[in-house]
Amino acid sequence: MRVLVLGGTTEASALAKLLAGDARFDATLSLAGRTLSPRPQPLATRIGGFGGVEGLVHWLHQKKVDAVIDATHPYAARISANAVAACAQTGVPLGSIVRPPWRRHEDDNWRMVPSAEAAAAALGKTPLRVFLSLGRQDLHAFAPAPQHRYVARTIEAPEQTALPPNIRILQARGPFDRDSEAELLSDEEIDVIVSKNSGGSATYAKIEAARELDLPVIMIVRPDKPVGHALGSPEEAVAWLHDRTPGSPRGV
Ligand code: NAP
Repeated sequence: MRVLVLGGTTEASALAKLLAGDARFDATLSLAGRTLSPRPQPLATRIGGFGGVEGLVHWLHQKKVDAVIDATHPYAARISANAVAACAQTGVPLGSIVRPPWRRHEDDNWRMVPSAEAAAAALGKTPLRVFLSLGRQDLHAFAPAPQHRYVARTIEAPEQTALPPNIRILQARGPFDRDSEAELLSDEEIDVIVSKNSGGSATYAKIEAARELDLPVIMIVRPDKPVGHALGSPEEAVAWLHDRTPGSPRGV
């Protein structure tokens, strides 16, 4: 069975590992190309956009894809919308690994905002020390708030254009643990954290550390992301794919 996995997440990497060792599947992993040196993957990997819905439809036809798994990041809404549209057009089954968001704990001090731009505005006029943990693509949103001092953690260095002037980049890739997050926030004398509600365990430690230190979190809410058949985990995705392989009781 030919499978396209739309990736860029921990779940996609876990699924790639499962599919690579399984002779029932001939799978390709697709990455957006946001990370210049992605972790090596055990599956054939293609990198870069398809060219919208039309491009994805073309790719699905050309590669005779039998099923697509959307394992993209909760904030990558465009590729998911494209996958839903392209799979509807081609009749290719689409399963989507849906990562639950973090739930607000009673001791959490979260302020919800709709975008990175709104997060920058919500910081206010008084200069603060801000920890940005939201990926390098959104750092430019803080350029209009140059009164603050920023510490931004990204996997790779951001482009230098349109960054706020007082910004220090910490290059690191998760997972992170609570003690080192608490130490970082204390050492940097952080007043407020800006985060996406990514869900999962790899980057949750900063939320726990913020709770422990009584720090506010400005939380950028998730975009509405269209999904196919909702799947809870990479293992569930494999079972769902198996049900669609020719010869299985529910296969086509
Ligand atoms: P997006 O807004 O959903 O996608 C924008 C375009 O990138 C898509 O239309 C598609 O181009 C291409 N694309 C995205 N994912 C792809 C994939 N797996 N394979 C091939 N092409 C892909 O997503 P984004 O711009 O990558 O990210 C939006 C937000 O998601 C970021 O701000 C970041 O916070 C978060 N995020 C993304 C990733 C990731 O791996 N993409 C990882 C972590 C976090 P075409 O229309 O040309 O096909």
